[in-house]
Amino acid sequence: MKKQDGMNCMRTVAVIGGGASGMMAALTAAENKDNKVLLFERQQRVGRKLLATGNGRCNLSNTELSPENYHGSDPGFAEYALSGFTPERTREFFKMLGLLTVVEPGGRVYPLSDSANSVVDIMRFACAEAGVEIITSCPVSAVKKQGERFLLSAGERAYMADKVVVACGGIAGGKLGGVRDGYDLLASLGHSRTSLMPALVQVTADHEYPRALKGVRADARLRIFSEGRQAAESRGELQFTEKGISGPVTFEVSRAVASLGEKKGTARIDFLADYKPDEVFSMLKAKVAAYSSLPCEELFTGLVHNRLGKMLVKYSGLGGGRTMAELSEEELETAAGAAKDFRLQIRGTEGFDNAQVTAGGIKTSEFDPHTLESRIVPGLFACGEVLDIDGDCGGYNLQWAWASGRLAGRLGG
Ligand SMILES: Cc1cc2nc3c(=O)[nH]c(=O)nc-3n(C[C@H](O)[C@H](O)[C@H](O)COP(=O)(O)OP(=O)(O)OC[C@H]3O[C@@H](n4cnc5c(N)ncnc54)[C@H](O)[C@@H]3O)c2cc1C
Repeated sequence: MKKQDGMNCMRTVAVIGGGASGMMAALTAAENKDNKVLLFERQQRVGRKLLATGNGRCNLSNTELSPENYHGSDPGFAEYALSGFTPERTREFFKMLGLLTVVEPGGRVYPLSDSANSVVDIMRFACAEAGVEIITSCPVSAVKKQGERFLLSAGERAYMADKVVVACGGIAGGKLGGVRDGYDLLASLGHSRTSLMPALVQVTADHEYPRALKGVRADARLRIFSEGRQAAESRGELQFTEKGISGPVTFEVSRAVASLGEKKGTARIDFLADYKPDEVFSMLKAKVAAYSSLPCEELFTGLVHNRLGKMLVKYSGLGGGRTMAELSEEELETAAGAAKDFRLQIRGTEGFDNAQVTAGGIKTSEFDPHTLESRIVPGLFACGEVLDIDGDCGGYNLQWAWASGRLAGRLGG
């Protein structure tokens, strides 16, 4: 292996991982002209996961951020970084780089271009312009402390660095580059981690109904129950999948579902959350009165998605070629109940490959929240998803990546 040293008068900073937090850390470190910044990325290009965020639109922040949006063994750890680089600062920062953003309902921030590509491009251009040396297709396989400095093995070469920032992300989104490297590199330097769980992920359930409804979307209130107690609740868009349910409302409760472990759980879905049960019953009665000769499969037509309506009729045990006029009041009560409290037996969640984020990570107690420097190895920093911090659905994870990358990139200064 050839050794390459930094220029003598300069401090060499090695940032490992060219994702959201790594690019931000590299850019920030490069603002200090005494730093020579090397950004290592194992994939062929930087920001590969970023390209897939927000369904290709990149929900890069959320203006309604509060500490409750973050999770981990000690979510308070994230507060210093997040209050130093707020969603407003994120928007200003990107504007300064030349990227305009818009705020959508729920405080979700997107690039005005509506394309994640432009976020990656702007970060790439800014890094290059600031003098960051981006080294792609170059996984860092080992980091060792040598005196005051660090020796990195990356690709076929060895590099010396004065400061190292580990920004390797988590294992979620395996096909987009989610790997264990960050945990392994930090473990080799004496750090430890909590257990890992997929978060912001589809919930798997008994297949019968979801499979028939695959692709159908609905506005719903979703509650998760286990052992007679409510474990989580959310309201928003729900989507049926081959194996269960997905969509933002499902992502919000997926952490609670993953935490159930072996315990049995039930998903209870309200498809007409803005209406009380007696209002739904009255609407069904009115439907029967208006369209008495139509098949009872049409009972929910106009109230919910057609395929969902037919499924609700089947779930209620109605149908059988009868007309609406043949339905009793009791049966209408049952149908109204199905729309308000449709139940699915939960099997669990999809795995890390399908998850948007990793819950758990390197223990934050081993890092200083004011600098993100390791308490174990001076000169070593970490940021982003590799740490035991994860956010809710809605731009909170990228906000953590930017804010923590910004703080780590200051290198304690
Ligand atoms: C499908 C999907 C959609 C998402 N949508 C959103 C969204 O809309 N809004 C939101 O806030 N969050 C979203 N997220 C979550 C968000 O993308 C992540 O939380 C965020 O990217 C984490 O940033 P990071 O820098 O810590 O890690 P990453 O962005 O994952 O970057 C880590 C980088 O390190 C590289 N790397 C790993 N090991 C090594 C090594 N040994 N050497 C060199 N390089 C290495 C990886 O290849 C990767 O490029 C989404 C995630 C997924 C999977």
